[in-house]
Amino acid sequence: MELAISLTDLVKTYRGSAKKPEKQALKGITLDIPRGSIFGLLGPNGAGKSTLINIRAGLVYKTSGTAKIWGYDTETQSRMARSSIGVVPQELNLDAFFTPRELLELQAGLYGVPAAERRTDELLDAVDLTDKADAYARTLSGGMRRRLMVAKAFVHSPPVLVLDEPTAGVDVELRKSLWEYVRRLNKEGVTVLLTTHYLEEAQELCDRIAIINHGELVANDSKENLLRRIDNKKLILRIERDIKELPENLRAQGWELAGERHLAVHYKPSQAAVDKLLRMVQMNGLTIADVSVEEADLEDIFLQLTRRALA
Ligand code: ADP
Ligand code: MG
Repeated sequence: MELAISLTDLVKTYRGSAKKPEKQALKGITLDIPRGSIFGLLGPNGAGKSTLINIRAGLVYKTSGTAKIWGYDTETQSRMARSSIGVVPQELNLDAFFTPRELLELQAGLYGVPAAERRTDELLDAVDLTDKADAYARTLSGGMRRRLMVAKAFVHSPPVLVLDEPTAGVDVELRKSLWEYVRRLNKEGVTVLLTTHYLEEAQELCDRIAIINHGELVANDSKENLLRRIDNKKLILRIERDIKELPENLRAQGWELAGERHLAVHYKPSQAAVDKLLRMVQMNGLTIADVSVEEADLEDIFLQLTRRALA
């Protein structure tokens, strides 16, 4: 499989200073991002998402390990690696005294895009800023700035676009329109990597999802597989009398004893009918006194994977 991004054992330790203690932000991340995907990188605040992205963008130096973008090593083939990726950073840093058109032209110049190959007008149109092409950036709303940043990351037509928390603090309307745009780019062949702490966003957009926590990878799977983990509830029954031993046919169906008078089974709501599960128990001559269900959702999975004993 051809990879858009390939990270091997990536470590980043921020050197301490008078103000900040030394911090190992990435503890050896190995991660492959296939070409053509919309890949979601999730994790709580401080997990290391921005660090990971900024290394790829060449904004932060890694401590050890290798990072390849579109097959190019970020260290030994840095020019090619850099030209293969466009990054929209988490912080909106736009020079307020330029217009969107000027900013895009400047950026294209920085990347050595010849005048004849520039797509300034097309990009402005794509992010719906044609009207504002010649307005000073400081007069743009937060949403417009965000869109301008996306266009800016795209002036050199990189095959990989990275968005760091693209919709943090953005209203619902704009979030939807950004999602729309991301989908369109992806359809046109762009590999998209986005970080987010909105699970809904990941669920809506991404086909693969990786979760990092405290600088470590704790999940990396297709969205379907992750959601399948979520398609999981626990049914707990209180039985009228003590059960010392679980009937073999129940055990075979995945039931377990959960205390003297309780039986429990994990089931997939998308597949199993609770009615059937209950009958199975009753057919063993057991009378059900009470029923409860424990639910799991994406939030649960996320918490489960990112929760750690307070060290
Ligand atoms: P995320 O984007 O997932 O919120 P970051 O990559 O920004 O996480 O940060 C990961 C960890 O590294 C945090 O503990 C953060 O405080 C620390 N960190 C980030 N940048 C620096 C820096 N320049 N110097 C020291 N520590 C840093
Ligand atoms: Mg961040």
